[in-house]
Amino acid sequence: MGKTALVTGASSGIGRAVARKLAADGYRVIGAARRVGLLRELDGVEPCELDVTDRDAVRAAVDGIVERHGSIDVVVANAGVMPLSRLDAGLVHEWDRMIDVNVRGLLHTVAAALPHFTRQDRGHLVTVASVGAHEVVPTSAVYSGTKFAAWAITEGLRLESPPTLRVTTVSPGVVESELADSITDPGARAAMAAYREHAIAPTAIADAVAYALTQPDSVDVNEIVVRPVQQR
Ligand code: NDP
Repeated sequence: MGKTALVTGASSGIGRAVARKLAADGYRVIGAARRVGLLRELDGVEPCELDVTDRDAVRAAVDGIVERHGSIDVVVANAGVMPLSRLDAGLVHEWDRMIDVNVRGLLHTVAAALPHFTRQDRGHLVTVASVGAHEVVPTSAVYSGTKFAAWAITEGLRLESPPTLRVTTVSPGVVESELADSITDPGARAAMAAYREHAIAPTAIADAVAYALTQPDSVDVNEIVVRPVQQR
């Protein structure tokens, strides 16, 4: 039986490229996001309308995958938002949104998948964090905070898990996607335009995910950082 993979945030950018890559590599792929119309455009990907901030919905989606397909082998926790701003701009609702999607959404995904990984005695969680999981720049305090958290949660899972569960954090640098569209703060938006000038294609991240997944069962690729050569 082929392996089953769930990719959250599969409607655009990195998640879309990962879903496409895994489908091409023979996985049964379930692509999840809120914009289900965009998911339906993906050949060979089963669309799943899902808001990762809804814990019950995430659990129901994962349980449904196991009911329909017998197992869940890979989960790529990729859904994320990045409305950057300085703390003194006071955009507290955007801080909450980043925490809800990037941290709570990841935790909901882990909570839903882990019982199945444990019962199956196998599984692979791939978290899409960021170079922001390793550094803070002005305007990235909250976003980096959520990505430091994503790194820590994923590392914690690795330490607590049996060797049958593999855990990978992929930390991209600047990648072409819709991510910067969510920035409402004018200063942060202007800074991002220059910063994103050398963005690389999301297929570079999809290839990194595929690399981690295709290693022998005894090999756990725990972190991959992929950034444009120009990015400092
Ligand atoms: P995009 O904005 O292109 O994609 C984000 C994806 O997340 C979309 O598919 C979106 O789907 C989904 N998403 C957002 N909110 C929710 C939600 N509440 N529930 C379910 N899905 C949601 O950006 P990227 O592809 O760039 O981002 C993917 C990941 O990569 C993020 O975690 C981001 O932080 C990370 N990253 C990206 C970098 C970059 O330069 N592009 C650099 C470093 C990290 P929908 O709106 O349909 O729900």
